[in-house]
Amino acid sequence: MTPLSTEQLLEIDRQHVWHPYASMTKALPQYVVTSTDGVRITLSDGRELIDGMASWWSAIHGYNHPVLTQALQSQCEKMSHVMFGGLTHEPAARLAKQLVDITPEGLQKVFLSDSGSVAVEVAIKMAIQYWHASGLPKKQRILSLRCGYHGDTFAAMSVCDPVTGMHELFNAVLPQQLFADAPQCGFNDDWDETDIESLATQLTQHQDHIAAVILEPIVQGAGGMRFYSPKYLKRVRQLCDQHQVLLICDEIATGFGRTGKLFACEHAGISPDILCLGKALTGGTMSLAATLTTEQVSRTICNANPGVFMHGPTFMGNPLACSVASASIELLLNSPWQQRISQLEKGLQTGLAPARQLEHVAEVRILGGIGVIEMTSPVRMQEITEAFVERGIWVRPFGKLVYLMPPYVISPHDLKQLTSALVDVITNPAFLQNE
Ligand SMILES: *Cc1c(COP(=O)(O)O)cnc(C)c1O
Repeated sequence: MTPLSTEQLLEIDRQHVWHPYASMTKALPQYVVTSTDGVRITLSDGRELIDGMASWWSAIHGYNHPVLTQALQSQCEKMSHVMFGGLTHEPAARLAKQLVDITPEGLQKVFLSDSGSVAVEVAIKMAIQYWHASGLPKKQRILSLRCGYHGDTFAAMSVCDPVTGMHELFNAVLPQQLFADAPQCGFNDDWDETDIESLATQLTQHQDHIAAVILEPIVQGAGGMRFYSPKYLKRVRQLCDQHQVLLICDEIATGFGRTGKLFACEHAGISPDILCLGKALTGGTMSLAATLTTEQVSRTICNANPGVFMHGPTFMGNPLACSVASASIELLLNSPWQQRISQLEKGLQTGLAPARQLEHVAEVRILGGIGVIEMTSPVRMQEITEAFVERGIWVRPFGKLVYLMPPYVISPHDLKQLTSALVDVITNPAFLQNE
C-alpha cells in the first residue's frame, strides 16, 4: 500500500469519513495523528500534544504501554477471534473472574459486549427480563436522572437527559422513560434530604411500572460533568430495595479508579444489581464492555421462560479485547494508582485554581482524576481547539464545559504544562460564544 500524504488523507476524510457528532458539509478541521506514546499524541506536522482527555476516559495507562502491546501481540498469534456461541476460551474466563473479584460485592455473572451503549442496552434488557420472569411483566420502564448520559443507541438514548441529552430529536420514537431531578448536593456538601424527594416521589407513584433505576454513580459525565453526594447514592440504593426496583449503575466512565476509588459505588459503600463497564476496561486499546449482575437476577431470568437471556453479539468475548483488558486490570492493580489519582487531584486543584478568578468562569470542580471548568457560555469549538493545539495540549470541550481527565501516568511536569496552557487559553473571553 502506498502511504497517503497528509493532504490526500484529509481530502478523503472530508469527502467520506463521518466523525462523532459531526457535520459532513460544514466539517470542522481534523488533526491528523501519526502516532502516540505515553501521554503524547503526535500530529502529521510533527507537533506533540499532551493528552488531557485519555481518549474519552479510556487510555488510563497512557498510549502504547508495552504490557498492553505485548498482551495484544501474543493473543493475536494464538487467535484473534472465535464465535462465543458454544465455544469459550481463557481470555474471556480470566477477565470475567477478575471483574467479579474487583467489582462491588454480589456481582457474579458477566455479560461481555462491544461498547458502552450496548452494555447499557443489555442492562435494561436484563432488568425487564428479570421482572417478566418474576411474574411482574408490567415493570418495564426505567427511572433515570436528569443530566445523565448513557450512550447513543435507542434504549440508551431513552435514559439520557431528555433535554441536554443530545437526542431530543428522537424523543417521539424513544421508549418513554421516567426522570427524577438531578442531585444538587455536591460531593463534599452536607446532605440535604430534600435532594432525594424527586426520585422518591417517582418511585412511590410508578413502582408498579418501574423495572430499574439507572444512574452514573457520583459523577454524571457527558450530561454535565457533575459530581454529587455519596449520600444520594446510598439513599437511592435503600429506596430501590424498598420499592422493589433494580439498581443499574453505569460505571462506563467512572470505573477503574478515575474518581479515586476503583469503582465510584465504593464512595457510598453500595452494590448495584446490575453494573455497566466500558471505556477504561481495555486501557484505551480496543472496544469492549461488560454488564455484570447478581446470582439472584441471573437465576430468576434463567428459571423462567424462555430460560435464557435474549442477547448475543457476533463479536462477544473477543479474545484480543479480553486479553488486553485482563492485562490492563493487572497493570492497574499492580500500580500505585491511588497515589497517582491523589497526585493528579492535587495537580488539577493547583493548576486549575487560577481559573476561579475569571469572570467568565462559572465554576471549577475537581474529583479524583477529573478536572472541570464550567464557563458562563459555550466555547467556540474551532477557535479554542486551534488555540489548545498551538499551546501543545489536546483538550476537547463540549458546550460550556472545558475538562480534563488525563492518563493516570501523567508526570507532575506534564500536568503542570497541561493545566497552565489550558488556563492561559481560557483566560481569553474571545473563545466564548456571545449569547
Ligand atoms: C461513554 C459512555 C457510555 C457509552 O459508551 P460507548 O462506548 O460510547 O457506547 C455510556 N455511559 C456512560 C456513563 C458513558 O460515559
